[in-house]
Amino acid sequence: MRQEDLPHPAPPGAMLAPIRLGNATASLPLRGQPRRKETHPHPTSHHSRPYVTGAWCATILPDNTFRGANLIEQQQGEVRYMQFSHYLQFPEITHGSFTRLGGYSKTPYWGLNVSYSIGDDFENVLRNRLRALQALHIETYPCATLWLIHGAEVATLSADAWDDWGTDWAHRSYQVDRHELIWTTKPRRKADAIITRQRGVALTMSSADCVPLMFYDPVEGVIGMAHAGWRGTARGIAAATIDAMREQFGSQPRNIYACLGPSIGSCCYEVTEEVQRLFLGKKEFDTLPTDVKYRNLVRESAVFVVRQLSDHNSLRLDLWETNRNQLLMAGVLQEHIELPGACTSCEKTRFFSHRGEHGKAGRFPSILALRNETG
Ligand SMILES: [Zn+2]
Repeated sequence: MRQEDLPHPAPPGAMLAPIRLGNATASLPLRGQPRRKETHPHPTSHHSRPYVTGAWCATILPDNTFRGANLIEQQQGEVRYMQFSHYLQFPEITHGSFTRLGGYSKTPYWGLNVSYSIGDDFENVLRNRLRALQALHIETYPCATLWLIHGAEVATLSADAWDDWGTDWAHRSYQVDRHELIWTTKPRRKADAIITRQRGVALTMSSADCVPLMFYDPVEGVIGMAHAGWRGTARGIAAATIDAMREQFGSQPRNIYACLGPSIGSCCYEVTEEVQRLFLGKKEFDTLPTDVKYRNLVRESAVFVVRQLSDHNSLRLDLWETNRNQLLMAGVLQEHIELPGACTSCEKTRFFSHRGEHGKAGRFPSILALRNETG
């Protein structure tokens, strides 16, 4: 009997030990640094302004900035993952923003690495993937994943195109510990966001510093996931995903809930002035130039800060605020957006960090699915 035929177990969290992180104090586990008192230049409340304006903000950042996320950490066996409070109100979806804890991989990818392309042991990668799905009780769901290229292309997975997605994969499924794992290690579809109404399919993405963005429109029953590193953000991937949800499925932006997973904070994300020029429209990408319709949005959404170090002024890109701005400018309500509250580079014992581990890092998964009607 396939697991799919069995009654669905209790919802994730019911048998687990949640640790609420909202309104955290300095002693809570996701905090890398004690909270500093209102030293961040950007207010978390934007009642007087729709978004943080100004692509340039010269100020001194604290070592780590907590920005009001309301993540709830779940533990399933040794696996630890986080869930967003916004999404827990919707039993028809399941999701997990995973840490690196609880996986099979060895150093330097120790933990729950789900990327095969970086050189990790293949069997361990497969077992890690299965573990992540099992933690959410959706190990029988096929997974839709993408070949990430740091662009702003949004792929639409429609119910009648699922077979096409399946045959698009070089290797569709694997046998792992007597389970059939349908999560290809060789995706052929190049895009950085995916949206769907398809039930019983898990959207999966792996990252280590880039921002994993999740979307849910409970009115139209649409989910989405996007990958927003600096290049994708400079191409407007967050707004492009909202636009695609509206165009493909009739989603109204005000109905969409958007959550940003753990990723690198401006505390650790030094960038070159060339990066800033690309955001500000003073330079164009050699390939995949930012779509004309997103150029103003990208420029106006961009948030850079300068940290004054002993030997130089360090230019930092704030991916969290920049993506939040793009979501707000695309029409998402501020109260429907949750930010990470955890920097992957500050917390390398919890997350993988490409920057923090000098390019030798695994990738942790983000997973979002509309449940089958039967559970
Ligand atoms: Zn940091």
